[in-house]
Amino acid sequence: MDNEPGLRTRLVQEGLARSPHGETSEALYLTSGFVYASAAEAAARFAGEAEGFTYSRLGNPTLRMFERRMAALEGAEAALATASGMAAVHATLMAQLAAGDRVVASRLLFGSSHYILHEILPRFGIEVTAVDGTDPAAWARALDRPARCVLLETPGNPTLEIVDIAEVARLARTAGARLIVDNVLATPILQRPLELGADLVVYSATKHIDGQGRCLGGVVLGERRFLERTLVPYLKHTGPALSPFNAWVLLKGLETLPLRIEVQNATAGRLAAFLEAHPGVERVFYPGLEGHPGHALARRQMKGGGTVLAFRTGGGRARAFAVLDRLRLIAISNNLGDAKSLATHPASTTHSRIPEAQRLAMGITEDLIRISVGLEEAEDLIADLDRALAS
Ligand SMILES: *Cc1c(COP(=O)(O)O)cnc(C)c1O
Repeated sequence: MDNEPGLRTRLVQEGLARSPHGETSEALYLTSGFVYASAAEAAARFAGEAEGFTYSRLGNPTLRMFERRMAALEGAEAALATASGMAAVHATLMAQLAAGDRVVASRLLFGSSHYILHEILPRFGIEVTAVDGTDPAAWARALDRPARCVLLETPGNPTLEIVDIAEVARLARTAGARLIVDNVLATPILQRPLELGADLVVYSATKHIDGQGRCLGGVVLGERRFLERTLVPYLKHTGPALSPFNAWVLLKGLETLPLRIEVQNATAGRLAAFLEAHPGVERVFYPGLEGHPGHALARRQMKGGGTVLAFRTGGGRARAFAVLDRLRLIAISNNLGDAKSLATHPASTTHSRIPEAQRLAMGITEDLIRISVGLEEAEDLIADLDRALAS
């Protein structure tokens, strides 16, 4: 009997559907529509009685390859691609929620996810409860009455707090809620939420899956029945379709994902240790460090500390800005998961829309800098940070 192919094999081969030309690389079907040999064939495809594509808002062969490869990576029954990570989060919530429903979420969320939960959903009569994601008692209290969905991010952006996925999955089940995990910061290589009991996993493929800062994309993974019955119709009719070109870029990104994450994860660990020992740094947030409050949990549910870390410079916004402005190799950018190392000041960029009191409660202080660790040599990044921190 043949062995099940390993992860790296699947990330290069899975989903590959060669055209009659026998191209080596996945074909890019940059087409909005499809033609039919006969009117009867068009009718059969629309009726779902014949295999084949009809319109790229509803499906496209390049997207199909990307979705199959993502599903294989995640160990999910099915995957659906979207135009961006936010399109994935938004559609996953809106496709299943109705007025009167309740959503429970961790407090520390990506800025736009926070906006959807706290600005958009309440307008439609949906109640949203935010909890300190690191506090199991807070989850238990919030989920002791029925809810439709639970949304969490772990590690959380930007302070890398760790939420116990298995524990929240258990509580969500008793509350009748579906657990959605935004797994962007952990990456599918370092954390597998479906195995820990999550129902749905969402990604911004813009981040590590592309991994080279080229294009936007998103993906939702989970049980085939839910995706086909609930999410497919919602996506088809609301239209946040991924461009075939972007799907092709993301497919190629998946081929090298495990190699990149291995290096970026190792380099992040070295940077975190360096910053922790630096006199010009007040505190480092990295789940791979023993002093991190979520370290033990991270060791249980992740295969590494991840590729993102944050640190406090002390001295408020002025010192954080001064440190950022002195960096030469690490660029100032709010993106993450790129081959290039990037530094950002969350309080004035990614999380600036969140009211200050809430922001502080999330640990996003004025002196906090987040680093997304790229593929450069660790020594060069350490030298850059060392120079920037010397005042
Ligand atoms: C970037 C990001 C998103 C949004 O993804 P886009 O592709 O930018 O729309 C959602 N969640 C997390 C954790 C992110 O980092």
